[in-house]
Amino acid sequence: MKIYIQTDIEGIAGFCFFEKRKDPSYENIQHRHRMYKLLTDEVNAAVQGAFDAGADEVIVNDSHGSGYNILFEYLDPRCQIIHGRNMSGPAWLPFLDETVDAMVLIGMHAMGATKDAITPHSLWEVNDGEFYMSEGTMAAALAGDFNVPSVFVSGDDKIVAEFKEKISGIESVQVKKALSPYQACSLIPAKACELIRKGVKDAILKKAEIKPYKVAGPLRLNLLDSAGHCPPLERLGDAVTADTISEAFDKYERAMPWTKMDLHDPDGFQFP
Ligand SMILES: [Zn+2]
Repeated sequence: MKIYIQTDIEGIAGFCFFEKRKDPSYENIQHRHRMYKLLTDEVNAAVQGAFDAGADEVIVNDSHGSGYNILFEYLDPRCQIIHGRNMSGPAWLPFLDETVDAMVLIGMHAMGATKDAITPHSLWEVNDGEFYMSEGTMAAALAGDFNVPSVFVSGDDKIVAEFKEKISGIESVQVKKALSPYQACSLIPAKACELIRKGVKDAILKKAEIKPYKVAGPLRLNLLDSAGHCPPLERLGDAVTADTISEAFDKYERAMPWTKMDLHDPDGFQFP
């Protein structure tokens, strides 16, 4: 049984502020490393929960910002991790295909412009506003195209609510209740990890009861956001039309300036 763990950082217990990747101050670097450790522990709890449920292959995708956040030397050695320069490979979610048995999502954040959510950003707009998706439910929809069910999500109360509305029966752990975009009432990390390990195990054991999340095509897709992620959000590009959500997502991302998919030769990039 193969499990795919998609990760982000904004939805972990303890996270309250957007990351500042350009600030070299000691305080900021120390804070970022603290968040990386908390993320690593939650991801590790999910990995262990997957193996507890009988997985024999677990792939973790380090998907926040740089794509190089998880302190992988502390992860359970039975898993593998996809990391490095984000969006320079063949896809946003490499190795997600029909051979995966279930997807688990850790550290997810609410879609852009969600009120009283911790650091909400990115608002996927389908069919000119028929409905909207977060980054998390977009990942679930891409998995759905491969008939892969998304069985577990963790994050704040707002993203958990979005997943539950779209995916009946999904298991979840609300690691914090958002009080504003930058303040939350949070579980203590040790408790969050305990609940995530058990929740992921339970979710995988009942995966047959959870249907893959399907977004039907043909459809039109656009992405909204803004500087500082402050409303009002704007459309970042021209809407794309495609027969499936996967094709639409791929087409849209390839047109975006932050994307350099299918990079085959070095282009001078330096981390971070
Ligand atoms: Zn993120």
